Amino acid sequence: LSLRQVTRRYGPVAAVERVDLDVAPGSRTVIVGPSGCGKTTLLRLIAGFEAPDEGRIELDGRVLADTDRCVPAHRRNIGFVAQDGALFPHLSVESNIGFGLDRGTPDRGARIGALMAAVGLPEAMRDRRPHQLSGGQQQRVALARALARQPRLMLLDEPFSALDTSLRESMREVVAATLGAAGIATILVTHDQAEALSFADHLAVMRDGHVVQAGPPVELYRRPKDPDIALFLGEAIIVEAELAHGRAHCALGEIAADAPGRSGRATIMLRPEQVAPRLSGEGGAHGRVVGRSFRGAGFRLVVKPDSGAAPIAFTVGADAPAVGESVALGLSGTAHVFDAS
Ligand code: ADP
Ligand code: MG
Repeated sequence: LSLRQVTRRYGPVAAVERVDLDVAPGSRTVIVGPSGCGKTTLLRLIAGFEAPDEGRIELDGRVLADTDRCVPAHRRNIGFVAQDGALFPHLSVESNIGFGLDRGTPDRGARIGALMAAVGLPEAMRDRRPHQLSGGQQQRVALARALARQPRLMLLDEPFSALDTSLRESMREVVAATLGAAGIATILVTHDQAEALSFADHLAVMRDGHVVQAGPPVELYRRPKDPDIALFLGEAIIVEAELAHGRAHCALGEIAADAPGRSGRATIMLRPEQVAPRLSGEGGAHGRVVGRSFRGAGFRLVVKPDSGAAPIAFTVGADAPAVGESVALGLSGTAHVFDAS
């Protein structure tokens, strides 16, 4: 799939503006961004429920939409699973899934059974109606219905957002395995950062209708273009620093910087896993723990540096120091330097 300079306006609002996106065959692309940034509109443009005002969309070298033409949704060979599943409420599981199959499909019943098995739905649920299913089961039916058409590309619009955490994870694995086995490229929209980082092999961050950064998840997590993207993808410590000879000097101490050629003042970012409190006396900037709150797997600490700089908050493992204790901050890895704006 390739999108070039795709724009869609609603009155004065550009819901999607000059978006470029490439999706390789069989790959998993994730689109993240805050509510209202244009994620659903982008998927609807790709699916063919909307036509772009400008730009071009191609699949396998065939133009799906540009300023002159727009292939209708049912002739695009693209599957779509909406946030709410959008099942037909009056139809059984079997009929909902069968809706995705052509009328004359041979072995129709067996095909439906195979699709149910692929998404982990028990055979006994064949005759149930959507209201007799849990949210997770409804999403499985919606996915099976979309798979029935054997699409080239599957679009998933926050399909797991209504599910609780453990079910989300198992559904995500089912979906990844099912689509992977069928060799179907996938675009998943989510506003869940953990989901985005774990599902994607290509990640695109949207803001105000634009794709502001795209690339491998590790790259975006470690080298976000700006502080907003940094915070969107996880916890981040963002501080002012002085750069010299490839190192950054800041309120937390001194650390290698990923912009070796730069010097002078800059804003840098560390991920919390790069900071570890050590007993005072060891290297690193010294400070005092002024806050500590339980976070399950660890504690969120607030440390006030002795230098008088602003307190820094980060999450550490289970053996966290207590409030009032003095610590030295050990820094590891490389600080990311944001481009001067
Ligand atoms: P997201 O899925 O990221 O939350 P949407 O694509 O649904 O965002 O919406 C992007 C922007 O376009 C929002 O400002 C929204 O209000 C607007 N929008 C979406 N669909 C329509 C529509 N059919 N008519 C008018 N405005 C719309
Ligand atoms: Mg949406």
